[in-house]
Amino acid sequence: MKVLDLQCPHGHRFEGWFASADDFESQQSRKLVECPICGATEVSRLPSAPRLNLSGASDSEAPARAEQMQAQMMRALREVLEKTENVGDRFAEEARRIHYNEAPARSIRGVTTPEDARALVEEGIEVMPLPVPAALKEPLQ
Ligand SMILES: [Zn+2]
Repeated sequence: MKVLDLQCPHGHRFEGWFASADDFESQQSRKLVECPICGATEVSRLPSAPRLNLSGASDSEAPARAEQMQAQMMRALREVLEKTENVGDRFAEEARRIHYNEAPARSIRGVTTPEDARALVEEGIEVMPLPVPAALKEPLQ
């Protein structure tokens, strides 16, 4: 097993596990290597830094877990983005129309001011703040 440090065009760094460096190259050329954060397949190999593990295994596992959690969160976010309709800055208006049955019921996303979001919640309309990283916005719009 070979652990390689990889990076996608959006600057996400992650580790890939391969049987050998050749295995990585063959998978990469067939676009089988995918960034776990944004799904880009144009990944490149970073020069791997020597791994100095002086203070025990737990130190090196913690950041790996954090990255894994981030990757999972990004995947969940992507799903939300794919299943919702982007209404941009008409979000508050559209959310009201749906709530009052003036528009077909569906999941929407968009931008709104904190004041508008609070007003919507007071009217009984569910609003969920969604921190969308800029890297995810572009391919979907
Ligand atoms: Zn990426």
